[in-house]
Amino acid sequence: LTEREQDVLEEIEAQNIDFLRLQFTDILGTVKNVSIPAHQAEKAFTEGIYFDGSSIEGFVRIQESDMRLDPDPETFAVLPWRDNGEGGSARLICDVVDREGRAFAGGPRQVLKNVLSRAEDMGYTVSIGPEPEFFLFEKDDDGKATTVPHDTGGYFDLAPKDLASDIRREIIFTLEKMGFEIEASHHEVADGQHEINFKYDDALTAADNIATFRAVVRAVAEQNDVHATFMPKPIGEINGSGMHSHISLFDEDGNNAFADDDDEFNLSETAYAFMGGVLDHAPAFTAVTNPTVNSYKRLVPGYEAPVYIAWSDVNRSALIRVPDAAGVSARFEIRSPDPSCNPYLALAAVIASGLDGMENGADPGDAVREDIYEFDEEKRDEYGITTLPGNLGQAVTALEDDEVVAEALGPHVTEKFVEAKREEFAEYKASVSGWEKDRYLETF
Ligand code: GLU
Ligand code: MG
Ligand code: MG
Repeated sequence: LTEREQDVLEEIEAQNIDFLRLQFTDILGTVKNVSIPAHQAEKAFTEGIYFDGSSIEGFVRIQESDMRLDPDPETFAVLPWRDNGEGGSARLICDVVDREGRAFAGGPRQVLKNVLSRAEDMGYTVSIGPEPEFFLFEKDDDGKATTVPHDTGGYFDLAPKDLASDIRREIIFTLEKMGFEIEASHHEVADGQHEINFKYDDALTAADNIATFRAVVRAVAEQNDVHATFMPKPIGEINGSGMHSHISLFDEDGNNAFADDDDEFNLSETAYAFMGGVLDHAPAFTAVTNPTVNSYKRLVPGYEAPVYIAWSDVNRSALIRVPDAAGVSARFEIRSPDPSCNPYLALAAVIASGLDGMENGADPGDAVREDIYEFDEEKRDEYGITTLPGNLGQAVTALEDDEVVAEALGPHVTEKFVEAKREEFAEYKASVSGWEKDRYLETF
């Protein structure tokens, strides 16, 4: 056992933990878990825990179904909402390996690790500060989720209008108990919509944190008898939920490689090249950062979500926004990702795009300081501004056509992901919506 693994065993004892949940994420981003009695922890560290990979979405075929979970001791955390006073539960996030202990190429966490080791070879660690937004909705008498907002507060409103602030506070306490450093939380623009920001971290930890964050928000909401959703656009004609991600790179001396105090926007050549790569590959990684049919209902003009592939320091209609920050905080924010994504694959795809930009000296062009929502096609052409894919089908095609992003995900994940998303889109295309019935049934 490593020292860290030894520490975890001691923690399990000290905190009176009865059960351990071994967690991992499937290709579509759903968190799976296997529960083991805590006395099996040592065995989990030394031998791993076997499971049937063929029953996990997008993993393997039946004939090679024996897979092993290899718990990462750094991710040990007690689950505060599972403590009944007598004995608690804790979780460990796992890597997926095969019988021989080789990393499984289809495991999303492995995909991100591969991209991050490329960054490391180039001399950088990647920092990500995610901003997941979500809605709290009422449940109906049968306990089913509705789309009735839990409150009618607006942006930065305070209680009592912001009824959910108690629930938000409970979410924050729970996250803090699990080791999160919370920077801010506020009521978002829409009724029932919230955002909680946690401190940026290295990209792998950030992805783990996003998965944990979603689980905590859901669990605390459930306990308060409301429904939390990370669905990107639960209600038409009001803001949807995004998951902006702030990005910077740190070099081996711990300096922010994106910082240049002499630049108008405090960004370095490295930052601009990375940004150029992100803009170049945006159509392709959108399938991963915005992976549901519903994601594309959010990416429309007028709701603070991006549609246009451009960058800006002032307006929120662009894909990338450069906040007013310098030095260690110099960074930019990518605004397209939504919280329905698989955080490991989404970060892998975005970071690989940026690294490609650095390798090829990509040019992001000039900042666009006007509201691009107001541009007509002619003006967009003049500025050379293209748009994000309009639906999941287009996004999947763009992913297949982009070698950089497809290679970052690897052939296994790309193939399974594309297959699943094509099916999802085909099913959607064949369905008939309430909107269509309202609009056409009596007209024709
Ligand atoms: N909710 C908006 C979105 O869909 C973002 C609002 C904000 O700027 O925080 O991305
Ligand atoms: Mg926000
Ligand atoms: Mg933001």
